[in-house]
Amino acid sequence: MERASENFEAATASAALSRGLGRSYGDASLPASPADVVANSRRADRILGFDPGSGVLRAEAGLSLRDLNRVFLRRGWASPVSPGTQYVTLGGMVASDVHGGNHHVAGTFGEHVRSLRMRVADGRVLEVSEQTEPELFRATLGGMGLTGHILEVELKMERIPSAWLYTETRRVADIDDLVETLLESSRRWPMTKTWFDSTQRGPGMGRGFAVMGRWAEAGEAPPQPPLLRERLSVPPLPIGLVNALTVSVFNKLWFHSQSRPRAAIAHPQAFFWPLDGLLHWNRLYGPRGFAQYQCVLPIERDTRVVRRFFAIMTRRGCPSPVSVIKDCGAEGRGLLSFPKPGISIALDVPLRGERTQALVDALNEIVLEAGGRVYMAKDVLTRGTHFRAMEPRLPHFLEVRRKWDPERRLRSALSVRLLGDDV
Ligand SMILES: Cc1cc2nc3c(=O)[nH]c(=O)nc-3n(C[C@H](O)[C@H](O)[C@H](O)COP(=O)(O)OP(=O)(O)OC[C@H]3O[C@@H](n4cnc5c(N)ncnc54)[C@H](O)[C@@H]3O)c2cc1C
Repeated sequence: MERASENFEAATASAALSRGLGRSYGDASLPASPADVVANSRRADRILGFDPGSGVLRAEAGLSLRDLNRVFLRRGWASPVSPGTQYVTLGGMVASDVHGGNHHVAGTFGEHVRSLRMRVADGRVLEVSEQTEPELFRATLGGMGLTGHILEVELKMERIPSAWLYTETRRVADIDDLVETLLESSRRWPMTKTWFDSTQRGPGMGRGFAVMGRWAEAGEAPPQPPLLRERLSVPPLPIGLVNALTVSVFNKLWFHSQSRPRAAIAHPQAFFWPLDGLLHWNRLYGPRGFAQYQCVLPIERDTRVVRRFFAIMTRRGCPSPVSVIKDCGAEGRGLLSFPKPGISIALDVPLRGERTQALVDALNEIVLEAGGRVYMAKDVLTRGTHFRAMEPRLPHFLEVRRKWDPERRLRSALSVRLLGDDV
């Protein structure tokens, strides 16, 4: 049962989990059992206070990044970290400790969170911060809703010179070029990301393009603030349009459309949240749907492990139109935060039963061997055994969870799959 209310605090009483806009790709915001109550925060979206002197904002956990942007971008303030969609809530951003294209300079969202108002498993409502309850605070950043319901979030916003971006785009020829370009541009640019052609094998494996950006100075940007555009909508489709052939054609066209290096002033939506322009884009995958998969591989300049990863991906067939590589910065303070220094790879994986499970198992073997980890907010197929082996910080997280929730009242489908909770 899902319980949504403007009074989110009341809605969380006796709930086993909280949920925001459901933009985590897997089972993180789904109940462990049909009998569990899930509290939905989306109606609790009030801004409670903002200090323009310090940039500190307090808001209810259901405030979406889109609404935050509507109010603040035109006034010269931005969220310090933005994931690839605006349809996320503050509570969801904290619970996943999200990262963005500026991770190498800004860290995760949790680095900018000052304090949280939370309902913990025994029903108490507490103000939780590094000062009051440091262990609970750190376990909640990236803790996937398993340490308590986040009711309010206090964070420090970023002052921006304009609401537009200055960007440069250039092609990369293969994996070595891709990794080198990322590492090199991360030293010079606050925002970087690369798209690569996941269907390309052989010498051109890993070809794609890199996009580097920074907030545009007021003199470079158009005088008017950017409009957050209306969106086209994909209707329900009887079959998926994403398959090896269509993705291969799409990827080729997309790659060749970026033939020359280019500098541009970009709309923030095009730069940060390109998928937000197409409502229900997930329907393109048809009724069988798709999963995302994101891992981080802690490599220096040694691209051999990335090569092995790509070889498995292309050999086993993973027609992903949205394939992004990012240079991660430092590990966050959240006990289970995803990023750590290395190369992060994110893929769309159309669901094809056992074949897809086998692909994820094989990719996870590489991640495990390399000392990397997968991102829980984008996962639905990782096995508990793999996850536990990848996550040396898990015992610490479980210890904090045990202290605050000895009976494991707070749980999700993800915690059943990865942490062995009872259904
Ligand atoms: C197109 C797209 C692009 C994305 N790009 C990125 C990216 O670049 N970087 C990145 O890090 N992530 C990215 N994501 C993932 C997304 O940012 C996270 O999954 C985010 O947590 C979703 O927020 P939500 O409000 O929809 O949370 P939900 O999906 O509803 O919930 C996510 C988790 O947060 C918990 N939660 C939600 N609200 C609360 C609350 N009030 N209290 C306690 N727990 C709560 C849930 O229990 C669940 O475990 C992307 C997702 C999409 C769809």
